[in-house]
Amino acid sequence: MGRRKLVVGNWKMNGLRAQLGEVEAIGAAAAAHPSVEVGLCLPATLIASAQAVSGAAFVGAQDCHMKDSGAHTGCLSAAMLAEAGASWTIVGHSERRQDQGESDADVAAKALAAKAAGLKVILCVGESLDVRDAGNAEAVVSAQLLASLPDGAAADWLAIAYEPIWAIGTGRIPTMEAVEAMHRALRTALGGRIGAADAGGMRILYGGSMNGDNAAELMAIEDVDGGLVGGASLTAAKFAPVIAAAG
Ligand code: PEP
Repeated sequence: MGRRKLVVGNWKMNGLRAQLGEVEAIGAAAAAHPSVEVGLCLPATLIASAQAVSGAAFVGAQDCHMKDSGAHTGCLSAAMLAEAGASWTIVGHSERRQDQGESDADVAAKALAAKAAGLKVILCVGESLDVRDAGNAEAVVSAQLLASLPDGAAADWLAIAYEPIWAIGTGRIPTMEAVEAMHRALRTALGGRIGAADAGGMRILYGGSMNGDNAAELMAIEDVDGGLVGGASLTAAKFAPVIAAAG
């Protein structure tokens, strides 16, 4: 299908300037695998300084506000993040959906705000363990995706990340068959909204305990177009093998 693999680290609330050497080394790993698009979604405080050293790896944010400006103490607009040097942002990560109570509509609004500021977007979806155990994960996550999808969603500015909540930071991952079935279901759901051709071009990443040991097998799955990686993206030693697995 010609979808370029996209491998993105999510540093969450980790990283001080002392870690900029890791950013630089990850940029070098990205340069060694030019067929792979590589990025790091960093704490906002690091975006500007990381952008100066990240080389072939883009720098992104982990969230943005849905409004352009206003009385929203502590929040950051997409334009602020873009000005700092971000070229992408995550929206709808399950930790924000849980901790900040973000709804599907909030996530769609944030994606549109990001696009308006020139940021590309990784939109996260994924099921809880209860939903997985109940056996209807594909239907639930497909519905979540369609409810979170912004108007005008297109492959040139939006990617999806399927992240089962129970796999994030736990060392557990779904079976390869389950990942394959979910990604296929999500692409079918996307096709129903934006048309099969556009859905065929959109990248759908897997996230949740991806690391250098499992990345190659996960990313060999037909509809898995890369990874969103938390813990294994914090150092170049752990992240470089994931990048190499995509190349
Ligand atoms: C994430 O939170 O986006 C993630 C995938 O985390 P981890 O790789 O640590 O499971």
